[in-house]
Amino acid sequence: MTAVPPPEGGRTATRQGEGVSMTTTATHPYTDGLAQGLLRYQRCDDCGRAQTLTRLACAHCGSEHLAWHEAQGRGTVVAASVVSRAPSDAFRPLVPYTLVLVELDEGPRVMGHAMPGTTIGDHVKAGTFAHEKRSLLRFSPAAH
Ligand SMILES: [Zn+2]
Repeated sequence: MTAVPPPEGGRTATRQGEGVSMTTTATHPYTDGLAQGLLRYQRCDDCGRAQTLTRLACAHCGSEHLAWHEAQGRGTVVAASVVSRAPSDAFRPLVPYTLVLVELDEGPRVMGHAMPGTTIGDHVKAGTFAHEKRSLLRFSPAAH
């Protein structure tokens, strides 16, 4: 597994308060990774836990020592839903489509599109597809 260095050249903003300073960046390793066909997740350098959502600190131990890693892209479906009404015009051409929540083998859970008929317990592997100039996550069946 490869550690991904923090993005460079992004606009940074520093927030002061509660006695700590936190830095955020305008570029995003997750969406930037998808654009390159890579599925990235955050993991804490101190306690080793993977995070489902991007955070400034570890949800388990509070450490700010977080690093981005590339997932293999394999996991198990833990929730599935068919979307019949698009949340925005951008997704209207896709309906009906299947959304799944997948627990990756590395631990974090990510949401993505999936092939029709995908259901809870299915083993899947990640891929991407282009929609409205963005790269979106889509899972397809995988032998585990
Ligand atoms: Zn931690």
